[in-house]
Amino acid sequence: MQKTTELYAGKAKSVYNTDHPDYLIMSFRNDTSAFDGEKIEQLERKGEVNNKFNHFIMQKLEAAGIPTQVESLLSDTESVVKRLEMIPVECVVRNISAGSLCRRLGVEEGLDLQPPTFELFLKNDALHDPMLNESLAITFGWATQPQLTKMRELTLTVNKVLSQLFDDAGMLLVDYKLEFGLFKGEIMLGDEFSPDGCRLWDKESREKLDKDRFRQGLGGVVEAYLDVASRLGIDMGPVERSS
Ligand code: UDP
Repeated sequence: MQKTTELYAGKAKSVYNTDHPDYLIMSFRNDTSAFDGEKIEQLERKGEVNNKFNHFIMQKLEAAGIPTQVESLLSDTESVVKRLEMIPVECVVRNISAGSLCRRLGVEEGLDLQPPTFELFLKNDALHDPMLNESLAITFGWATQPQLTKMRELTLTVNKVLSQLFDDAGMLLVDYKLEFGLFKGEIMLGDEFSPDGCRLWDKESREKLDKDRFRQGLGGVVEAYLDVASRLGIDMGPVERSS
């Protein structure tokens, strides 16, 4: 698979066209951003850690019957993915209160949420990703009702699979954000799943092991991601380039 032109550069990843029309190369950079890009830093090895983390999680999800865009690891920081037509709606599930939920509703951090909550946000940095509901998403054409129904079902299945996976490794999956896209008409999980886009706490101490370490200036960001990866048994060894 040969990289050709750059298709898109986001805050932490760059996406490249390839010599195959159905596939892209996703390159995970060390850039780490928070607060809609107001705080940006380079964190050594973060791109590599998130690339391998994402590949591991997406394989687990595929094994559980959730279609994802991930094809293969290409190098330490790159993966081959299917070219999706992205749906600009972010799906967030929460098992424990934290982050914007606490700010918005004035509830304390750390409450067990039963049943887990499901929220939609419009992917739009300039508008700070405003909250949506299905009615708005449908009326403005960001997603159809059947797509939203499928996205909700897949997002909640992901919650079952990953809550168990992290629990078995001594961690709590507090919340996470997913993005979906269409590949030849089928909804698939796109973007990434890494500690940049979820909250993970140690089950006993409730120590934060995710991007909140960066947002809150706690330090040890990549070290925490590596701790999570090692608890899950993720191989962080060098990737042999396949082509
Ligand atoms: N999240 C994300 N990208 C976004 C917004 C949220 O990855 O643009 C993730 C975030 O890391 C957390 C979950 O979605 O795991 C819920 O985020 P929240 O709404 O609490 O917003 P935040 O407090 O992170 O601004």
